[in-house]
Amino acid sequence: MNEDLDVLVIGAGACGLCAAIAAHDQGLSTAIVEKMDRPGGNSALSTGSVPAAGSRFQREAGIDDGPENYCRDLMAIAGEADNADLVRLMAQVSAETVEWLIDDVGARLKLVTAYKHIGHSVPRLHAPVSRRGIDLVDDLIAAVEKRNIPIAVGNSARELIVEDGAVRGAVIDAGNSSPFDIRAGKTILAVNGFGANRDLVARFCPEIAGARYFGAHGSAGEAVLWGRKLGAALDNMAAYQGYAAVADPHGGLLSWTTIEKGGILVGADARRFGDESTGYSGYARIVLAQGDHAYAIFDQRIFDIAAQEEEFRELSDYGAFKKADRLHDLAMACGLEAGTLSEEIDRYNASAAGREGDAFGRKEFGIAPLRPPYYACRVVPGMFHTQGGLRIDREARVLRGSGEPIPNLYAGGGAAAGISGRSGALGYASGNGLLTAVALGRIAALSAARALRVDRQ
Ligand SMILES: Cc1cc2nc3c(=O)[nH]c(=O)nc-3n(C[C@H](O)[C@H](O)[C@H](O)COP(=O)(O)OP(=O)(O)OC[C@H]3O[C@@H](n4cnc5c(N)ncnc54)[C@H](O)[C@@H]3O)c2cc1C
Repeated sequence: MNEDLDVLVIGAGACGLCAAIAAHDQGLSTAIVEKMDRPGGNSALSTGSVPAAGSRFQREAGIDDGPENYCRDLMAIAGEADNADLVRLMAQVSAETVEWLIDDVGARLKLVTAYKHIGHSVPRLHAPVSRRGIDLVDDLIAAVEKRNIPIAVGNSARELIVEDGAVRGAVIDAGNSSPFDIRAGKTILAVNGFGANRDLVARFCPEIAGARYFGAHGSAGEAVLWGRKLGAALDNMAAYQGYAAVADPHGGLLSWTTIEKGGILVGADARRFGDESTGYSGYARIVLAQGDHAYAIFDQRIFDIAAQEEEFRELSDYGAFKKADRLHDLAMACGLEAGTLSEEIDRYNASAAGREGDAFGRKEFGIAPLRPPYYACRVVPGMFHTQGGLRIDREARVLRGSGEPIPNLYAGGGAAAGISGRSGALGYASGNGLLTAVALGRIAALSAARALRVDRQ
Protein backbone atom coordinates (compact mmCIF):
# COMPACT_ATOMS: atom_id res chain seq x y z
CA MET A 1 0.00 0.00 0.00
CA ASN A 2 1.38 3.41 -1.03
CA GLU A 3 1.47 5.57 2.08
CA ASP A 4 3.07 8.93 2.68
CA LEU A 5 2.89 8.54 6.45
CA ASP A 6 2.15 6.04 9.17
CA VAL A 7 -0.10 8.52 10.97
CA LEU A 8 -1.73 11.67 9.64
CA VAL A 9 -2.89 14.03 12.38
CA ILE A 10 -5.56 16.56 11.41
CA GLY A 11 -5.58 19.62 13.69
CA ALA A 12 -2.77 21.23 15.70
CA GLY A 13 -4.40 21.90 19.07
CA ALA A 14 -3.46 20.05 22.25
CA CYS A 15 -4.94 16.80 20.97
CA GLY A 16 -3.17 16.82 17.60
CA LEU A 17 0.17 17.96 19.01
CA CYS A 18 0.09 15.26 21.71
CA ALA A 19 -0.96 12.62 19.18
CA ALA A 20 1.92 13.48 16.86
CA ILE A 21 4.47 13.51 19.71
CA ALA A 22 3.29 10.13 20.97
CA ALA A 23 3.20 8.66 17.44
CA HIS A 24 6.74 9.88 16.76
CA ASP A 25 7.98 8.45 20.05
CA GLN A 26 6.54 5.08 18.99
CA GLY A 27 8.87 5.20 15.98
CA LEU A 28 6.13 6.15 13.49
CA SER A 29 6.32 8.68 10.68
CA THR A 30 3.77 11.40 11.28
CA ALA A 31 2.79 14.93 10.26
CA ILE A 32 0.16 17.44 11.32
CA VAL A 33 -2.05 19.52 9.02
CA GLU A 34 -3.63 22.64 10.48
CA LYS A 35 -6.24 24.69 8.68
CA MET A 36 -5.48 28.01 10.36
CA ASP A 37 -2.33 30.09 9.92
CA ARG A 38 -1.05 29.11 13.33
CA PRO A 39 -1.40 26.08 15.58
CA GLY A 40 -3.21 26.18 18.90
CA GLY A 41 -6.96 26.23 18.28
CA ASN A 42 -9.05 26.43 21.43
CA SER A 43 -6.19 24.95 23.42
CA ALA A 44 -4.29 28.22 23.02
CA LEU A 45 -7.30 30.22 24.27
CA SER A 46 -7.87 28.04 27.31
CA THR A 47 -6.38 28.45 30.77
CA GLY A 48 -4.28 25.35 30.10
CA SER A 49 -5.64 23.50 33.15
CA VAL A 50 -5.39 19.72 32.92
CA PRO A 51 -6.76 17.53 35.75
CA ALA A 52 -4.85 14.55 37.08
CA ALA A 53 -5.99 12.34 39.95
CA GLY A 54 -3.24 10.70 41.98
CA SER A 55 -0.35 12.60 40.37
CA ARG A 56 2.97 12.66 42.21
CA PHE A 57 2.56 16.45 42.46
CA GLN A 58 -0.62 15.93 44.47
CA ARG A 59 1.17 13.41 46.68
CA GLU A 60 4.01 15.87 47.27
CA ALA A 61 1.40 18.47 48.27
CA GLY A 62 -0.23 15.97 50.65
CA ILE A 63 -3.42 15.70 48.58
CA ASP A 64 -5.11 12.31 48.80
CA ASP A 65 -6.68 11.57 45.41
CA GLY A 66 -7.04 8.82 42.85
CA PRO A 67 -9.02 7.68 39.81
CA GLU A 68 -11.98 6.40 41.85
CA ASN A 69 -12.36 9.71 43.61
CA TYR A 70 -12.08 11.66 40.35
CA CYS A 71 -14.50 9.34 38.59
CA ARG A 72 -17.02 9.87 41.41
CA ASP A 73 -16.62 13.63 41.04
CA LEU A 74 -17.12 13.46 37.27
CA MET A 75 -20.20 11.25 37.57
CA ALA A 76 -21.64 13.46 40.31
CA ILE A 77 -21.49 16.58 38.19
CA ALA A 78 -22.20 15.07 34.77
CA GLY A 79 -24.95 12.60 35.62
CA GLU A 80 -26.12 10.41 32.77
CA ALA A 81 -23.75 10.07 29.82
CA ASP A 82 -23.72 8.06 26.61
CA ASN A 83 -20.16 6.94 27.32
CA ALA A 84 -19.61 6.15 31.02
CA ASP A 85 -16.73 3.85 30.10
CA LEU A 86 -14.77 6.77 28.65
CA VAL A 87 -15.34 8.81 31.81
CA ARG A 88 -13.74 5.99 33.83
CA LEU A 89 -10.87 5.69 31.36
CA MET A 90 -10.07 9.40 31.52
CA ALA A 91 -9.99 9.31 35.32
CA GLN A 92 -7.72 6.26 35.21
CA VAL A 93 -5.16 7.72 32.80
CA SER A 94 -5.24 11.35 34.00
CA ALA A 95 -2.20 11.13 36.31
CA GLU A 96 0.03 9.21 33.89
CA THR A 97 -0.98 11.65 31.12
CA VAL A 98 -0.03 14.76 33.08
CA GLU A 99 3.21 13.15 34.27
CA TRP A 100 3.98 12.23 30.62
CA LEU A 101 3.30 15.84 29.60
CA ILE A 102 5.69 17.14 32.24
CA ASP A 103 8.40 14.45 32.14
CA ASP A 104 8.54 13.37 28.47
CA VAL A 105 7.07 16.30 26.60
CA GLY A 106 8.50 19.11 28.71
CA ALA A 107 5.24 20.94 29.48
CA ARG A 108 5.66 23.40 32.34
CA LEU A 109 2.56 22.53 34.36
CA LYS A 110 2.21 23.03 38.09
CA LEU A 111 -0.44 21.71 40.46
CA VAL A 112 -2.88 24.51 41.30
CA THR A 113 -3.60 24.60 45.03
CA ALA A 114 -5.09 28.12 45.26
CA TYR A 115 -8.53 26.84 44.09
CA LYS A 116 -10.22 23.59 43.03
CA HIS A 117 -12.82 24.88 40.58
CA ILE A 118 -16.13 23.36 39.76
CA GLY A 119 -16.49 19.60 39.77
CA HIS A 120 -13.39 18.74 41.81
CA SER A 121 -13.49 17.66 45.45
CA VAL A 122 -9.71 18.18 45.82
CA PRO A 123 -7.14 20.33 43.99
CA ARG A 124 -6.16 18.36 40.88
CA LEU A 125 -5.77 20.90 38.08
CA HIS A 126 -2.24 21.15 36.69
CA ALA A 127 -1.71 24.37 34.72
CA PRO A 128 0.93 26.78 33.40
CA VAL A 129 1.87 29.32 36.07
CA SER A 130 0.41 32.04 33.82
CA ARG A 131 -2.90 30.10 33.53
CA ARG A 132 -2.61 30.58 29.79
CA GLY A 133 -3.19 27.71 27.38
CA ILE A 134 -0.86 29.36 24.90
CA ASP A 135 2.04 28.48 27.20
CA LEU A 136 1.01 24.82 27.15
CA VAL A 137 0.66 24.97 23.36
CA ASP A 138 4.10 26.60 23.05
CA ASP A 139 5.63 23.77 25.07
CA LEU A 140 3.90 21.17 22.86
CA ILE A 141 5.09 22.92 19.71
CA ALA A 142 8.64 23.00 21.08
CA ALA A 143 8.39 19.23 21.64
CA VAL A 144 7.07 18.73 18.09
CA GLU A 145 9.88 20.83 16.63
CA LYS A 146 12.50 19.02 18.69
CA ARG A 147 11.32 15.81 17.06
CA ASN A 148 11.28 17.35 13.56
CA ILE A 149 7.60 16.50 13.12
CA PRO A 150 6.23 18.56 10.21
CA ILE A 151 3.31 20.90 10.96
CA ALA A 152 1.72 22.30 7.81
CA VAL A 153 -0.28 25.39 8.82
CA GLY A 154 -2.76 26.90 6.37
CA ASN A 155 -3.47 23.34 5.19
CA SER A 156 -7.06 22.35 5.73
CA ALA A 157 -8.23 18.76 5.47
CA ARG A 158 -11.16 19.00 3.06
CA GLU A 159 -12.35 15.43 3.26
CA LEU A 160 -11.18 11.99 4.26
CA ILE A 161 -9.94 9.52 1.66
CA VAL A 162 -12.11 6.43 2.07
CA GLU A 163 -11.53 3.21 0.13
CA ASP A 164 -13.59 0.06 0.71
CA GLY A 165 -14.93 1.57 3.93
CA ALA A 166 -11.43 2.19 5.36
CA VAL A 167 -9.87 5.63 5.87
CA ARG A 168 -6.63 6.10 3.92
CA GLY A 169 -5.71 9.71 4.73
CA ALA A 170 -7.20 13.04 3.68
CA VAL A 171 -7.52 15.47 0.81
CA ILE A 172 -5.69 18.66 1.77
CA ASP A 173 -6.50 22.16 0.63
CA ALA A 174 -3.57 24.58 0.95
CA GLY A 175 -5.56 27.45 -0.54
CA ASN A 176 -3.20 28.56 -3.28
CA SER A 177 -2.75 25.30 -5.18
CA SER A 178 -4.84 22.34 -6.22
CA PRO A 179 -5.94 20.09 -3.39
CA PHE A 180 -3.65 17.11 -2.87
CA ASP A 181 -3.85 13.78 -1.08
CA ILE A 182 -1.91 12.72 1.99
CA ARG A 183 -2.19 8.96 2.31
CA ALA A 184 -1.63 7.44 5.72
CA GLY A 185 -1.93 4.10 7.48
CA LYS A 186 -3.93 5.70 10.30
CA THR A 187 -5.66 9.07 10.56
CA ILE A 188 -6.28 10.89 13.83
CA LEU A 189 -9.04 13.49 13.91
CA ALA A 190 -7.99 16.27 16.29
CA VAL A 191 -10.17 18.98 14.75
CA ASN A 192 -12.16 19.85 17.91
CA GLY A 193 -15.97 20.17 17.93
CA PHE A 194 -18.56 22.38 16.26
CA GLY A 195 -18.66 25.53 18.42
CA ALA A 196 -17.91 27.78 15.43
CA ASN A 197 -20.62 26.16 13.29
CA ARG A 198 -23.77 28.12 14.15
CA ASP A 199 -26.06 25.68 12.31
CA LEU A 200 -24.79 22.67 14.23
CA VAL A 201 -24.92 24.57 17.55
CA ALA A 202 -28.52 25.63 16.87
CA ARG A 203 -29.39 22.04 16.02
CA PHE A 204 -27.63 20.21 18.86
CA CYS A 205 -27.23 22.82 21.65
CA PRO A 206 -30.21 25.19 21.12
CA GLU A 207 -30.21 26.46 24.73
CA ILE A 208 -26.93 28.33 24.19
CA ALA A 209 -27.29 29.17 20.49
CA GLY A 210 -28.11 32.80 21.36
CA ALA A 211 -24.83 33.33 23.25
CA ARG A 212 -21.65 34.67 21.69
CA TYR A 213 -19.00 32.13 20.77
CA PHE A 214 -15.60 32.81 22.32
CA GLY A 215 -13.71 29.76 21.05
CA ALA A 216 -11.42 29.36 18.06
CA HIS A 217 -12.83 29.67 14.56
CA GLY A 218 -11.34 26.39 13.38
CA SER A 219 -13.96 24.37 15.30
CA ALA A 220 -16.28 24.10 12.32
CA GLY A 221 -17.61 20.61 13.00
CA GLU A 222 -15.78 18.52 10.40
CA ALA A 223 -15.56 15.53 12.74
CA VAL A 224 -19.35 15.40 13.00
CA LEU A 225 -19.92 16.09 9.31
CA TRP A 226 -17.35 13.55 8.03
CA GLY A 227 -18.22 11.04 10.72
CA ARG A 228 -21.88 11.06 9.80
CA LYS A 229 -21.04 10.33 6.16
CA LEU A 230 -19.09 7.29 7.31
CA GLY A 231 -21.88 6.06 9.56
CA ALA A 232 -20.12 7.00 12.81
CA ALA A 233 -22.24 7.20 15.95
CA LEU A 234 -22.45 10.51 17.82
CA ASP A 235 -22.63 10.81 21.62
CA ASN A 236 -23.53 13.54 24.16
CA MET A 237 -24.34 15.97 21.37
CA ALA A 238 -26.20 18.51 23.54
CA ALA A 239 -23.31 18.97 25.98
CA TYR A 240 -21.09 22.04 25.88
CA GLN A 241 -18.88 24.31 27.98
CA GLY A 242 -20.34 27.71 28.69
CA TYR A 243 -18.82 30.62 30.55
CA ALA A 244 -21.02 32.90 32.57
CA ALA A 245 -18.73 35.91 32.85
CA VAL A 246 -16.76 37.06 29.83
CA ALA A 247 -15.64 40.65 30.46
CA ASP A 248 -17.48 42.98 28.09
CA PRO A 249 -16.32 44.57 25.83
CA HIS A 250 -12.80 43.28 26.56
CA GLY A 251 -13.59 39.67 25.62
CA GLY A 252 -11.31 38.14 28.30
CA LEU A 253 -12.51 35.69 30.95
CA LEU A 254 -13.39 37.31 34.24
CA SER A 255 -11.81 34.77 36.57
CA TRP A 256 -14.52 32.69 38.24
CA THR A 257 -12.39 32.92 41.37
CA THR A 258 -14.15 36.29 41.87
CA ILE A 259 -17.47 34.48 42.23
CA GLU A 260 -16.24 31.39 44.06
CA LYS A 261 -14.60 33.60 46.64
CA GLY A 262 -17.88 35.39 47.32
CA GLY A 263 -18.75 37.68 44.40
CA ILE A 264 -22.20 37.81 42.82
CA LEU A 265 -23.79 38.61 39.47
CA VAL A 266 -26.58 41.15 39.07
CA GLY A 267 -28.55 42.01 35.95
CA ALA A 268 -29.07 45.43 34.37
CA ASP A 269 -31.85 45.89 36.97
CA ALA A 270 -29.22 45.54 39.75
CA ARG A 271 -30.92 42.37 41.04
CA ARG A 272 -29.35 38.93 41.50
CA PHE A 273 -31.04 36.28 39.39
CA GLY A 274 -29.78 32.88 40.58
CA ASP A 275 -27.34 30.72 42.52
CA GLU A 276 -23.93 31.73 41.19
CA SER A 277 -22.29 28.72 42.82
CA THR A 278 -23.86 26.63 40.02
CA GLY A 279 -20.48 27.14 38.32
CA TYR A 280 -19.18 29.14 35.41
CA SER A 281 -20.29 26.69 32.76
CA GLY A 282 -23.80 25.82 33.92
CA TYR A 283 -24.57 29.40 34.92
CA ALA A 284 -23.97 30.77 31.38
CA ARG A 285 -27.47 29.73 30.31
CA ILE A 286 -28.99 31.48 33.34
CA VAL A 287 -27.13 34.71 32.54
CA LEU A 288 -28.30 34.49 28.93
CA ALA A 289 -31.92 33.97 30.00
CA GLN A 290 -32.02 37.15 32.14
CA GLY A 291 -30.70 39.62 29.55
CA ASP A 292 -27.80 40.36 27.28
CA HIS A 293 -25.32 41.40 29.97
CA ALA A 294 -24.78 41.39 33.73
CA TYR A 295 -22.36 42.78 36.32
CA ALA A 296 -20.04 40.82 38.58
CA ILE A 297 -19.69 42.51 41.96
CA PHE A 298 -16.85 41.63 44.34
CA ASP A 299 -14.58 43.34 46.82
CA GLN A 300 -10.95 44.28 47.35
CA ARG A 301 -10.05 41.08 49.22
CA ILE A 302 -11.43 38.99 46.36
CA PHE A 303 -9.67 41.23 43.85
CA ASP A 304 -6.36 40.58 45.63
CA ILE A 305 -6.84 36.79 45.43
CA ALA A 306 -7.83 36.83 41.75
CA ALA A 307 -4.94 39.19 40.97
CA GLN A 308 -2.61 36.20 41.31
CA GLU A 309 -3.87 35.28 37.82
CA GLU A 310 -2.22 36.99 34.85
CA GLU A 311 -5.36 37.42 32.75
CA PHE A 312 -7.19 39.03 35.66
CA ARG A 313 -4.36 41.53 36.15
CA GLU A 314 -4.47 42.26 32.43
CA LEU A 315 -8.22 42.89 32.54
CA SER A 316 -7.60 45.27 35.41
CA ASP A 317 -4.88 47.08 33.44
CA TYR A 318 -7.27 47.36 30.46
CA GLY A 319 -9.80 49.12 32.66
CA ALA A 320 -12.39 46.32 32.80
CA PHE A 321 -13.23 47.05 36.45
CA LYS A 322 -15.01 49.90 38.19
CA LYS A 323 -13.97 50.48 41.79
CA ALA A 324 -15.70 52.50 44.53
CA ASP A 325 -15.71 52.79 48.29
CA ARG A 326 -19.49 53.20 48.35
CA LEU A 327 -22.01 50.98 46.62
CA HIS A 328 -23.85 54.10 45.53
CA ASP A 329 -20.81 55.26 43.53
CA LEU A 330 -20.22 51.79 42.09
CA ALA A 331 -23.84 51.66 40.91
CA MET A 332 -23.54 55.12 39.32
CA ALA A 333 -20.34 54.09 37.50
CA CYS A 334 -22.15 51.07 36.01
CA GLY A 335 -25.45 52.80 35.27
CA LEU A 336 -27.26 50.65 37.87
CA GLU A 337 -30.03 51.79 40.19
CA ALA A 338 -28.12 52.54 43.41
CA GLY A 339 -30.85 51.79 45.97
CA THR A 340 -31.61 48.42 44.41
CA LEU A 341 -27.94 47.41 44.31
CA SER A 342 -27.48 48.32 48.00
CA GLU A 343 -30.58 46.34 48.90
CA GLU A 344 -29.35 43.29 46.98
CA ILE A 345 -25.91 43.40 48.57
CA ASP A 346 -27.44 43.81 52.05
CA ARG A 347 -29.64 40.79 51.49
CA TYR A 348 -26.78 38.71 50.05
CA ASN A 349 -24.46 39.71 52.89
CA ALA A 350 -27.08 38.64 55.41
CA SER A 351 -27.18 35.19 53.77
CA ALA A 352 -23.38 34.99 53.60
CA ALA A 353 -23.20 35.85 57.31
CA GLY A 354 -25.72 33.09 58.05
CA ARG A 355 -28.42 35.47 59.28
CA GLU A 356 -30.95 34.35 56.66
CA GLY A 357 -31.28 31.73 53.92
CA ASP A 358 -30.16 32.72 50.44
CA ALA A 359 -33.01 33.66 48.09
CA PHE A 360 -31.55 31.38 45.40
CA GLY A 361 -30.25 28.60 47.61
CA ARG A 362 -26.57 29.53 47.39
CA LYS A 363 -24.65 27.67 50.09
CA GLU A 364 -21.04 28.59 49.46
CA PHE A 365 -20.07 32.20 49.99
CA GLY A 366 -16.27 32.18 49.96
CA ILE A 367 -15.07 35.09 52.06
CA ALA A 368 -18.30 37.10 51.75
CA PRO A 369 -20.04 39.16 53.22
CA LEU A 370 -18.75 41.71 50.75
CA ARG A 371 -17.24 44.87 52.16
CA PRO A 372 -15.74 48.06 50.74
CA PRO A 373 -13.95 48.90 48.55
CA TYR A 374 -16.13 47.24 45.90
CA TYR A 375 -15.47 46.28 42.28
CA ALA A 376 -17.78 45.71 39.32
CA CYS A 377 -17.15 44.18 35.90
CA ARG A 378 -19.66 44.16 33.04
CA VAL A 379 -19.93 40.61 31.67
CA VAL A 380 -21.70 38.62 28.98
CA PRO A 381 -22.30 34.85 28.82
CA GLY A 382 -20.41 32.86 26.23
CA MET A 383 -20.13 29.47 24.63
CA PHE A 384 -16.57 28.08 24.65
CA HIS A 385 -16.71 24.67 23.07
CA THR A 386 -18.98 21.74 22.38
CA GLN A 387 -18.61 18.48 24.29
CA GLY A 388 -20.52 16.13 21.99
CA GLY A 389 -18.84 14.28 19.15
CA LEU A 390 -17.81 10.98 17.63
CA ARG A 391 -18.35 7.83 19.63
CA ILE A 392 -14.98 6.19 20.32
CA ASP A 393 -13.82 3.15 22.24
CA ARG A 394 -11.02 2.84 24.83
CA GLU A 395 -8.52 2.77 21.96
CA ALA A 396 -9.88 6.10 20.60
CA ARG A 397 -11.15 4.26 17.50
CA VAL A 398 -14.19 5.89 15.90
CA LEU A 399 -17.20 3.59 16.12
CA ARG A 400 -20.23 2.99 13.95
CA GLY A 401 -23.63 2.70 15.60
CA SER A 402 -23.18 -1.09 15.40
CA GLY A 403 -20.10 -0.82 17.64
CA GLU A 404 -17.73 -1.71 14.78
CA PRO A 405 -14.69 0.58 14.45
CA ILE A 406 -14.31 2.50 11.19
CA PRO A 407 -11.01 1.08 9.95
CA ASN A 408 -7.95 3.34 10.47
CA LEU A 409 -9.86 6.28 11.97
CA TYR A 410 -9.18 7.65 15.49
CA ALA A 411 -10.44 10.74 17.28
CA GLY A 412 -9.69 12.70 20.44
CA GLY A 413 -10.26 16.03 22.13
CA GLY A 414 -13.34 17.93 21.00
CA ALA A 415 -13.72 15.76 17.88
CA ALA A 416 -14.78 12.87 20.13
CA ALA A 417 -17.67 12.78 22.57
CA GLY A 418 -16.60 14.29 25.87
CA ILE A 419 -17.01 13.40 29.54
CA SER A 420 -19.43 16.15 30.60
CA GLY A 421 -22.65 14.20 30.50
CA ARG A 422 -25.31 13.92 27.90
CA SER A 423 -26.59 17.47 27.66
CA GLY A 424 -26.22 21.08 28.72
CA ALA A 425 -23.34 22.83 30.45
CA LEU A 426 -23.88 21.76 34.05
CA GLY A 427 -21.87 18.59 33.55
CA TYR A 428 -18.70 20.40 32.55
CA ALA A 429 -15.99 20.09 35.21
CA SER A 430 -12.89 22.26 34.86
CA GLY A 431 -10.32 20.56 32.68
CA ASN A 432 -12.70 18.16 30.91
CA GLY A 433 -11.79 19.73 27.56
CA LEU A 434 -8.03 19.54 27.78
CA LEU A 435 -7.91 16.18 29.56
CA THR A 436 -9.71 14.45 26.70
CA ALA A 437 -7.52 16.38 24.23
CA VAL A 438 -4.15 15.37 25.66
CA ALA A 439 -5.11 11.93 26.97
CA LEU A 440 -7.03 10.79 23.89
CA GLY A 441 -4.44 12.30 21.52
CA ARG A 442 -1.83 10.13 23.21
CA ILE A 443 -4.09 7.07 23.42
CA ALA A 444 -5.02 7.38 19.73
CA ALA A 445 -1.34 7.42 18.76
CA LEU A 446 -0.46 4.45 20.98
CA SER A 447 -3.42 2.47 19.61
CA ALA A 448 -2.50 3.39 16.05
CA ALA A 449 1.05 2.18 16.69
CA ARG A 450 -0.22 -1.16 18.05
CA ALA A 451 -2.60 -1.60 15.12
CA LEU A 452 0.09 -0.78 12.56
CA ARG A 453 2.36 -3.41 14.10
CA VAL A 454 -0.42 -5.98 13.74
CA ASP A 455 -1.29 -4.83 10.16
CA ARG A 456 2.34 -5.19 9.12
CA GLN A 457 3.09 -8.59 10.65
C1 LIG B 1 -11.60 30.60 26.60
C2 LIG B 1 -11.52 29.11 26.82
C3 LIG B 1 -11.01 28.61 28.01
C4 LIG B 1 -10.91 27.23 28.22
N1 LIG B 1 -10.27 26.76 29.35
C5 LIG B 1 -10.07 25.42 29.50
C6 LIG B 1 -9.28 24.88 30.57
O1 LIG B 1 -8.65 25.61 31.34
N2 LIG B 1 -9.19 23.54 30.70
C7 LIG B 1 -9.79 22.71 29.80
O2 LIG B 1 -9.71 21.49 29.97
N3 LIG B 1 -10.47 23.17 28.73
C8 LIG B 1 -10.60 24.51 28.55
N4 LIG B 1 -11.27 24.96 27.45
C9 LIG B 1 -11.68 23.99 26.44
C10 LIG B 1 -10.43 23.50 25.68
O3 LIG B 1 -9.75 24.63 25.16
C11 LIG B 1 -10.80 22.55 24.55
O4 LIG B 1 -11.68 21.57 24.99
C12 LIG B 1 -9.52 21.86 24.04
O5 LIG B 1 -8.56 22.85 23.76
C13 LIG B 1 -9.79 21.04 22.80
O6 LIG B 1 -8.56 20.63 22.27
P1 LIG B 1 -8.51 20.07 20.79
O7 LIG B 1 -7.09 19.77 20.51
O8 LIG B 1 -9.52 19.01 20.64
O9 LIG B 1 -9.02 21.30 19.90
P2 LIG B 1 -8.29 22.64 19.46
O10 LIG B 1 -7.30 23.06 20.45
O11 LIG B 1 -9.34 23.61 19.08
O12 LIG B 1 -7.50 22.20 18.17
C14 LIG B 1 -8.17 21.79 16.98
C15 LIG B 1 -7.37 22.28 15.82
O13 LIG B 1 -7.85 21.65 14.63
C16 LIG B 1 -7.85 22.61 13.59
N5 LIG B 1 -8.75 22.15 12.53
C17 LIG B 1 -10.11 22.12 12.56
N6 LIG B 1 -10.59 21.63 11.40
C18 LIG B 1 -9.51 21.33 10.63
C19 LIG B 1 -9.37 20.81 9.31
N7 LIG B 1 -10.43 20.49 8.56
N8 LIG B 1 -8.12 20.64 8.81
C20 LIG B 1 -7.02 20.98 9.56
N9 LIG B 1 -7.11 21.50 10.81
C21 LIG B 1 -8.34 21.66 11.34
C22 LIG B 1 -8.29 23.88 14.28
O14 LIG B 1 -8.00 25.02 13.52
C23 LIG B 1 -7.52 23.79 15.60
O15 LIG B 1 -6.26 24.40 15.52
C24 LIG B 1 -11.38 26.34 27.21
C25 LIG B 1 -11.91 26.86 26.03
C26 LIG B 1 -11.97 28.22 25.81
C27 LIG B 1 -12.51 28.74 24.51
